[in-house]
Amino acid sequence: MSKILKVNNLKKIYHDKDGEVVALSDISFDVNEKEIIAIVGPSGCGKSTLLSILMNLEKPSSGTFSFKKDTSIGYMLQNDCLFPWKTILENCLVGLEVEKKLTNDSKNYVINLLKTYGLEDFMYKYPSSLSGGMRQRCALIRTLALKPDILLLDEATSALDYQSRLKVSEDIYNIIKNEEKSAIMVTHDISQAISIADRVIVLSNRPAIIKKIYNIKLTNKSTPLNNRKTKEFIKYHDMIWSDLDGK
Ligand code: ADP
Repeated sequence: MSKILKVNNLKKIYHDKDGEVVALSDISFDVNEKEIIAIVGPSGCGKSTLLSILMNLEKPSSGTFSFKKDTSIGYMLQNDCLFPWKTILENCLVGLEVEKKLTNDSKNYVINLLKTYGLEDFMYKYPSSLSGGMRQRCALIRTLALKPDILLLDEATSALDYQSRLKVSEDIYNIIKNEEKSAIMVTHDISQAISIADRVIVLSNRPAIIKKIYNIKLTNKSTPLNNRKTKEFIKYHDMIWSDLDGK
């Protein structure tokens, strides 16, 4: 299987007035093409730091990572960052405008995504008329407009209520799989991680090392909601829960 990302021995040390904070230590993993990886770990262990390094917002203190040649990367954060004064379509075209890639073809691609993923009737409305879940779907389409090969999602659904989170998880999963993307999603929600991901990486308390990597194998694996009903789901949940509990 072809690798889209290789991460080797990443370490990150922050320096503040009280001295050193070792956020990450000895982090190594690969991501295969079209694979969804979830990263879970205790709060403050270094999950966002890891994504920030992969986004080139932070430099690692040591170690390396490399994306496959010509890989383009899309990001989606907890806050959807939609502009309230722009329509849904305009919001979804922002990235293309900034990158000077707005053409009739790229615009039609976005319009088709909006139609496919249930936002056709809202294209000319403003973000205030969307539910939290629809806003996240819109933010995901804005990210997809630039045709990224891999998506990095940092707690993309954690601002939503439980029911919306289930619905958006379903949407995000369907969109990523239909559009044949790879993804790394950071989440504190163990159930979400197991139900969506092909592999779940469990980080330890700070300094975060990789405690376990689970290859998620579920009977009749399908969509996240159905995956939650499989007999293996509870087993993985218990194991990851106890990993995080330090038992
Ligand atoms: P998580 O996403 O798992 O909650 P973070 O990656 O945000 O954790 O943070 C990991 C650790 O690194 C925390 O202890 C945090 O306080 C520390 N940290 C993050 N950013 C900085 C920074 N810019 N300077 C100093 N310490 C930082």
